[in-house]
Amino acid sequence: FIEFSQVSKRFGDNVVLDDLSFKVGNGERVTLIGPSGSGKTTILRMLMTLTKPDSGTVAISDEFLFHEKQGDELVPASEAHIRKVRSRVTMVFQQFNLFPNMKVLRNVTEAPIHVLGKSRDEAEQRGRELLEMVGLQDKAGFFPSQLSGGQQQRVAIARALAVEPDILLLDEVTSALDPEIAAEVLDVLRDVARSSDVTMLCVTHAMRFARDVSNRVLMFGDGKILEEAPPEQMFNDPQHDRTKSFLRSVL
Ligand code: ATP
Repeated sequence: FIEFSQVSKRFGDNVVLDDLSFKVGNGERVTLIGPSGSGKTTILRMLMTLTKPDSGTVAISDEFLFHEKQGDELVPASEAHIRKVRSRVTMVFQQFNLFPNMKVLRNVTEAPIHVLGKSRDEAEQRGRELLEMVGLQDKAGFFPSQLSGGQQQRVAIARALAVEPDILLLDEVTSALDPEIAAEVLDVLRDVARSSDVTMLCVTHAMRFARDVSNRVLMFGDGKILEEAPPEQMFNDPQHDRTKSFLRSVL
């Protein structure tokens, strides 16, 4: 599970997260919604240890990300501890971020070989299975620049799954794509959600997808969770005025 406990973060005068606490259980699919600047990406970045909270704790299954427990005390985490906890989380970004100088299969096998220590054969076999799952088995030998945006994003999803993460973070993975192409990517993610028990935390403006895939939606504003509910309830019968006006603007 993921646990944020009394997390605060500000950039200068801008309070982005204000004493935020929430928990996501193993295998849950949670969508984060809210206006631009409400801190959704910051939350994902904290789980990747790319952004550090000013105060509070972030933990994955009782392992603190920025601290370690020594007896009853929390002390700054060692590099090794951070690497270990961090290795259970992967993120797919809006802009794909594939390695441009590596062919598709190598993009997918690089981390399993160099981070997980898998043999090349094993990594390539699994890599081909994952490429098949995202419908790109015939593109293994292409460079990213030879693929469409939607295909590149599907490679990025295969690459993220290749490290066998417990937690998959998705940050507006379809915002850079045309609606039709975005639909292909969302179909792939629906399959991932159906066929694996990975915990998914997803920032998206694709409300259909949020409705189909997630079991819980969190609405952010003013550095806090303003409302949380299962998708049907959130989209059909929002309670908070800010949720109502936000949903009117995106639906
Ligand atoms: P969006 O939907 O636009 O992606 P968001 O809810 O994901 O928004 P964040 O990206 O988490 O919001 O950003 C929250 C706020 O923190 C924004 O106002 C942003 O400008 C600010 N911010 C984020 N990173 C930094 C940084 N490194 N330095 C200064 N300000 C930052």
